[in-house]
Amino acid sequence: MKFSQVAKTYNEIEKTSSLIQMRERLALLLKKSTPEEVKALCYLTLGRIAPSYSTILLGMGESMVAKSIAKASGESIEEVKRHIKKTGDAGLAAENLIKSKGKLEIKDVMGTLEKIAKKKGAGSVQEKIEILADLLKKSSGIEARYVVRIVLGQLRLGAGDKTILDALAIAYTGTQKARQKLERAYHIRPDLGEIGKTLASKGLRAVEKIGIKLFVPIQAMLCQRIRELSDVEEKMGFPVAVEHKYDGERVQAHKRGDQVRLFSRRLDDVTSQFPEIVKAVKKLKAKKCIIDGEAIAIDKEGNALPFQTMMQRRRKYEIEEYAKKIPISLRVFDLLYLEGKSLIDESYPKRHEKLEKTVKKSKQLELAERIVCESLQCIDEFFEKMCERGAEGIVIKSMDPSSTYEAGTRGWKWIKWKPEYMRGMRDTFDLVIIGAYWGRGKRSGTYGALLCAIYDDKNDKFLTFCKLGSGFTDAQLKELPKKLTVHKGKPARASVKKNMIPDVWISPETVIEVTGANITKSPSHTSGYALRFPRFVRYRKKKPSQATTLEEIKTLTQERTS
Ligand code: AMP
Repeated sequence: MKFSQVAKTYNEIEKTSSLIQMRERLALLLKKSTPEEVKALCYLTLGRIAPSYSTILLGMGESMVAKSIAKASGESIEEVKRHIKKTGDAGLAAENLIKSKGKLEIKDVMGTLEKIAKKKGAGSVQEKIEILADLLKKSSGIEARYVVRIVLGQLRLGAGDKTILDALAIAYTGTQKARQKLERAYHIRPDLGEIGKTLASKGLRAVEKIGIKLFVPIQAMLCQRIRELSDVEEKMGFPVAVEHKYDGERVQAHKRGDQVRLFSRRLDDVTSQFPEIVKAVKKLKAKKCIIDGEAIAIDKEGNALPFQTMMQRRRKYEIEEYAKKIPISLRVFDLLYLEGKSLIDESYPKRHEKLEKTVKKSKQLELAERIVCESLQCIDEFFEKMCERGAEGIVIKSMDPSSTYEAGTRGWKWIKWKPEYMRGMRDTFDLVIIGAYWGRGKRSGTYGALLCAIYDDKNDKFLTFCKLGSGFTDAQLKELPKKLTVHKGKPARASVKKNMIPDVWISPETVIEVTGANITKSPSHTSGYALRFPRFVRYRKKKPSQATTLEEIKTLTQERTS
């Protein structure tokens, strides 16, 4: 397929604020493509050339790209930079300056971008510039716009993973209904390109058979929340397992012999950040396995330290030095794969039994502290004990035979319970920033308030929940315009009522933790609810699709009124 058709579709998508139109346009494009092109399109549409967990990077910044544009267009670098400054967008600058006919196929674009990513080491900067310049020479203006934006990681069409899954379902099964099946595969193997290609070449049955692949991260299972601890009985029944809820970073470790890779909850490869965990995972009593746990900072006695301490280990440089200063321990709570066999469809007690046999306890790796309870009193006592030790809370896990590992899902098989829940409504929510309002007076020149949304996972939409202006330090306020990416026009997945339209739309990418006084029903917000007196707590390293869901809010409010 010609890349000009892709560019035309991207241009249409950019102009629409309708999610339905976005899906249909994408579906049309996918339907006309070969399986290999479908694979490329699944990545390119998200502004990437590989799945999100991959470490493949193009490694080109704006000044390198400006040089390629200059070479391709015959303009001076100064002229190119002037255009970039004027438009604020290197993509538009390329479009204005490059005037070729454009004969590119999708495979030319994908192949060239892959070639750029492979160039490493001495001399690679110049080589990358030349290769991109050659591609741009063969591009039309509009094609150049999108090539440049993809290279710079600035595509931002507003299509999320789920929109692409919807479009794939429509293109290859005729309706959106198949999305659930595609989504299940995506939770276990979060590689949209592979799923798209399998669907296009072998059909839905083949997608349903997609299973765990070692060194491809599985999307993490998440917790629901309850209003009263006594609700556990109704939601789960007894017995239940109750575990310490550690406040660190979720880490999924994959092992094959001496080969180990660690992945974060966002599916980023964090292997190099935690050398001591890698060492400990190598010693597990299994040749091949995948374990799930929380990495925490520990003191000399092995006690858990606060999240803020652990945060200092999230770094690119001085890793060894910080590993000595702030030791980390992985508290393991699940086993998803063992010796070539997936365990995610087995019950939690069975998985845990195998996990106990697999873990070789050390300071750097041990089982999460837990107890099996037959009564609420037992849960409450364990909760008190954990709180005294400064725990973030507890996670209550179903021991029912149906307690499978629900990858990427926030279901009732895991329930979190935190001290905040006991103190009325000091609970926190993970919200997505979708808009901002300019500040006045002391806050002029920065944003005075942010429009925040919860996630409606059934419809892949962000529904407004509060206007947030407090809890920020002066420094945090000042950096907001730089930190948040302005979206031209309303992002398709943001659903907003007229009276809430922000001064600036923000790309729905940033997740923040927000606390509030209480939740009320609200006609002003598209979620139907409002968080009153919201206060910013901290930035979260979560994907927007991992934000607090409409379902969670419904559960909380229903239970309060009943
Ligand atoms: P939240 O981010 O508040 O929705 O809580 C879910 C997170 O708690 C998980 O993603 C884990 O990172 C973390 N966590 C800490 N301890 C446990 C545990 N024992 N079981 C499951 N999740 C845990």
